[in-house]
Amino acid sequence: MKFLEGKNVIITGASRGIGKGIATIFAEHGANVAFTYSSSEAPALELEKELNGKGIKAKAYKSNAASFEASEKLVAQVLEDFGGIDVLINNAGITKDNLLMRMREEDFDQVIEINLKSVFNMTKAVQRTFLKQRKGSIINMSSVVGVKGNAGQSNYAASKAGMIGFTKSVALELGSRNIRCNAIAPGFIETEMTAKLDEKVVQGWRDGIPLKRGGTTEDIANACLFLASDLSAYITGQVLNVDGGMLT
Ligand code: NAP
Repeated sequence: MKFLEGKNVIITGASRGIGKGIATIFAEHGANVAFTYSSSEAPALELEKELNGKGIKAKAYKSNAASFEASEKLVAQVLEDFGGIDVLINNAGITKDNLLMRMREEDFDQVIEINLKSVFNMTKAVQRTFLKQRKGSIINMSSVVGVKGNAGQSNYAASKAGMIGFTKSVALELGSRNIRCNAIAPGFIETEMTAKLDEKVVQGWRDGIPLKRGGTTEDIANACLFLASDLSAYITGQVLNVDGGMLT
């Protein structure tokens, strides 16, 4: 059964990793997918081609989620290209880890702008469309780190915790118009990024997770599928931990 047949979705940061996983599963469930990237043009165009091969419409856009103006332009362009938007997934994110002692001001600012301000930018930009149609689902990609904190990631943790406060506030503001807003808090997800880490360190992380494995991009994409579709029609303002039991 296809859960997103004919729905139009915007995903920020889908040239690789979790965003790419979401785009792929959504396309398999019949959604048309507009997605962004910041610099990885070749993989983004490759994904666009792959998704179009699944019988849906897909388009890659180079757009900086941290820019308010660029986000407004992006949404206007997607509306013109796709004719509507039903789901927004704020997934774009970066890390600039360091102990507070060594963290530079620009590393704090950049992480907050790309991870948190982007969520404001994109949500503002789709709001009018969602209000008009009295329907919409917004999913914000937070992190376990936003719930429990992490040494060496004060900037990242602050951005991800900020996303949770934003999610709950928007859910309260827009619920009466049938617009839902939820967050996902992934745990340790094995992407190309984590494949570069020392295998012994990674195994140590896996051993500490109740389900004894790292998550996959599909694990996160399936949670997004649920929150994007009408299966979760009565769920808003929630943070869904997709972490193998890490926070239990
Ligand atoms: P990733 O592999 O590094 O991919 C990040 C994506 O965001 C890329 O497509 C990148 O585009 C895009 N991006 C970066 N800066 C951008 C900007 N300014 N504007 C638009 N797009 C931008 O990361 P990931 O591991 O898939 O993580 C995706 C999300 O999940 C992030 O928000 C992350 O914080 C969150 N998360 C990840 C984990 C994990 O274990 N992996 C755990 C918890 C939460 P380019 O390719 O062009 O740079």
